[in-house]
Amino acid sequence: MIYDLLIIGGGAAGMMAAITAAETGKKVIIIEKMNRLGKKILATGNGRCNFTNSYLDEDCYRSSKKSFPFTAVEQFGSQDAIAFFEQLGIAVVDRDGYYYPRSNQASTVADGLIYKIKSLHIPVVLECKINRIEKKKGYFTIASRKKEFTGRNLLIAAGGKAQEKLGSDGSGFLLAKSCRHTLIEPFPALTALIIKKHPLKEASGVRCRCKVTAVINGQSSKAEEGELQITSYGVSGVLIFQLSRFIIDGIRKGKRSAICIDFLPEQKEKSQFFTTMKECASYKTAQQWLEGYFPTKLADALLAYAGVDSNKNVGNLSKKEREQIWRQIKECRMSIDGWKDFDFAQVTAGGVSVAEVSPYTMESELIPGLYFAGEILDVDGTCGGYNLQWAWTSGYLAGRSIQ
Ligand SMILES: Cc1cc2nc3c(=O)[nH]c(=O)nc-3n(C[C@H](O)[C@H](O)[C@H](O)COP(=O)(O)OP(=O)(O)OC[C@H]3O[C@@H](n4cnc5c(N)ncnc54)[C@H](O)[C@@H]3O)c2cc1C
Repeated sequence: MIYDLLIIGGGAAGMMAAITAAETGKKVIIIEKMNRLGKKILATGNGRCNFTNSYLDEDCYRSSKKSFPFTAVEQFGSQDAIAFFEQLGIAVVDRDGYYYPRSNQASTVADGLIYKIKSLHIPVVLECKINRIEKKKGYFTIASRKKEFTGRNLLIAAGGKAQEKLGSDGSGFLLAKSCRHTLIEPFPALTALIIKKHPLKEASGVRCRCKVTAVINGQSSKAEEGELQITSYGVSGVLIFQLSRFIIDGIRKGKRSAICIDFLPEQKEKSQFFTTMKECASYKTAQQWLEGYFPTKLADALLAYAGVDSNKNVGNLSKKEREQIWRQIKECRMSIDGWKDFDFAQVTAGGVSVAEVSPYTMESELIPGLYFAGEILDVDGTCGGYNLQWAWTSGYLAGRSIQ
């Protein structure tokens, strides 16, 4: 059997491409190394699948070629993705621009794609890892250790390297390299950060709202507000995930990288903060005073970092001690020493160079008939539905371009 399209990888991008191509009458087959399709989708959005976002612009994506992701997203954006899933009979909800299936279950999205694939009679081969690609006389042959498949076009949608237990193990990169494609060195993105000498380690387990700024070579760069998670190894939480891309990039380039935490972003005025202390907390210890603002463990840790005795009455704090407390609350600076690796990260930065791929069709500019879609490409999005949107966009563009 010679297929019109062979697809390596039955994740979000591969399934979208399969449905799109099959709907135009193409003979498609999906080859997937795991024991089911869409395993990673099940883990997305804490099991709820944040599948797109109504706010989309160029800054939502990173790539060595900045214009590439958005040129593609403009052709199939969030409204298209929403309409696509509604067409599959999946009701969606909008939570401040973040879209989820109404069921609140990621399996609704994964299964919805699988039901459609079945209805289109697209053959699926599971537990089959492709490790070889050849193109001869206009036909692609792809092979696992036991099986071979032949087709006129080939889509590599094998994902990146994030969370191998969900399928993507980086083997797609090797396949792309075997087709002479350039690889931009992959590294984890949307991940937690490691602090070796963690000044707030005692507060591990605390979650608190704050503003965190990435500081690269002493220069403040990107800032995010949201919920910070203090852990025993460092810091985590969505706002850290958002900053991790910049910080990891900085460290990899040998730059000094740190974060600066404002634990009380709504408190702008120092004088007002201390006036309130005098008026409302004069009978309290420093710890009791800060407990009015922070969880006890964090109050203790901040006072320890500021070098202030937590049992001291606030009325007895020296000006220097008050200044130190204010500094740790408003500008708590910590050097970042590393990051949680691919087994923790949500997404892979880097990948197949987009300089060799068309942003309109996802077709290779080196080998006609070869396509790429999803996380395997050198495109990564910020948190908020942008990575799945990239999978839908690139999968759709590849699927509709198959001749
Ligand atoms: C915990 C977690 C939460 C996330 N939450 C969100 C979220 O809420 N919103 C969002 O937008 N993004 C989220 N993401 C990111 C998003 O899930 C991915 O970017 C997206 O699923 C990538 O889709 P893909 O099809 O390119 O790759 P994948 O989903 O990784 O699919 C690739 C498939 O290819 C298969 N494969 C790999 N190599 C081979 C081979 N050699 N032969 C055969 N098959 C192979 C793999 O088994 C896999 O099934 C999250 C990621 C994680 C890990």
